[in-house]
Amino acid sequence: MNTIIKKDFPFFNNNDIVYLDSAATSQKPQIVLDKMQEYYTQYCANTHRGEHELGDKATTEFENSRDYIAKFIGANTDELVFTKGTTEAINFVASSFVKSRFTKVFLSELEHHSNIVPWQLQGLEIVVLPLDKDLNINLEEYEKLLRLNPKSFVSITHVSNSFGIINPIKKLINIAHKYECLILIDGAQALAHLRIDVKDLDADFYAVSAHKAYGPTGIGALYGKYALLESMSPYQGGGSMITEVSFKKSSYLKPPLRFEAGTQAIAEVIGFKAALKYLFTLKQTQKEEDILLKYAKEKLQGLSRIQLYTQAENVLGNISFNIKGVHHNDIGILLSKQSIMLRTGHHCAMPIMKKLGIKGTIRLSFALYNTKEDINKTIQAIQKAIHLLTKNKGDKSASK
Ligand code: PLP
Repeated sequence: MNTIIKKDFPFFNNNDIVYLDSAATSQKPQIVLDKMQEYYTQYCANTHRGEHELGDKATTEFENSRDYIAKFIGANTDELVFTKGTTEAINFVASSFVKSRFTKVFLSELEHHSNIVPWQLQGLEIVVLPLDKDLNINLEEYEKLLRLNPKSFVSITHVSNSFGIINPIKKLINIAHKYECLILIDGAQALAHLRIDVKDLDADFYAVSAHKAYGPTGIGALYGKYALLESMSPYQGGGSMITEVSFKKSSYLKPPLRFEAGTQAIAEVIGFKAALKYLFTLKQTQKEEDILLKYAKEKLQGLSRIQLYTQAENVLGNISFNIKGVHHNDIGILLSKQSIMLRTGHHCAMPIMKKLGIKGTIRLSFALYNTKEDINKTIQAIQKAIHLLTKNKGDKSASK
């Protein structure tokens, strides 16, 4: 967590922006941009088709990337399907797997809209797993619900994008399997911060997005146990996913290519690998990120009107709060004017905001390029904003 790492990111070269919105999307290191440019300038060709040398090179780089990304999360190469991101991965599982086998899906109250709306679109009933006062899933309630509903489908976030809660997914997966349930883990907020081993976790499906882990936008992946992928019909039809096509009938390749119809996001796949390689060289310094998160929390707790929503220790990556008597969006606007970029609002997690009786929060989200200096500047800017927004007001209203 230091200025040395900041130097790897061209975004920070010519500005003094404090970027605290990495849960939305992270900045990209030069190495990722270079790798993508290398594809466009040196071997730009389509993959998995044609016989020429450039196509071969592009296909090799593409499939090497699949291999690296799969290994990075502990998967076998043929268990990793490229998608546009976590959202598409969940939509894919909902439409190609869950819809035809289940009538309902069990979700926590903490989910991102990407882990709510896809199930609704497929006509599945949603059963909500309740949280305790610190926003942790109530494990007893969870087990009770699954005991009453064996052979169900569960879908839960690994790390909450709105409050940073790290769910105990190994336990959640064990309990799901005890009752013969299948489980998908939304890993969108985990990849940049945690070591993921899908085999050790025994996840049935695990979804990730590259852009939240220093990679390009528009690319992500779905891990699925091979037997499950093999049982799934294609999500979309088109070129490169077939073995035979006639006007009567078509047959399909084996997974993962069966699920990758049409020209893929080739440069992005290559950039995705470069991002994870970069992350690997930094050794995913979660300890340093924890130090920064604790530092930010301590500083925020020093603000007189602060309202935090969890005292849980199992948090990472982001911290959400409100300032009593001030609208969260007003703070966001005033901070932006001071070159501090953070997110305010419901963070695509309206159900948890409703449960807490608020419309939204102010969220600081961290990456390895953030520093204590960033936090200090942010706290000062918040104090200035509070002063401006409350100088003619009493101290009564809550931030709703
Ligand atoms: N799940 C969580 C927890 C997220 O935070 C996000 C994005 O913010 C998503 C899913 C969706 O990811 P993407 O927009 O990359 O598909």
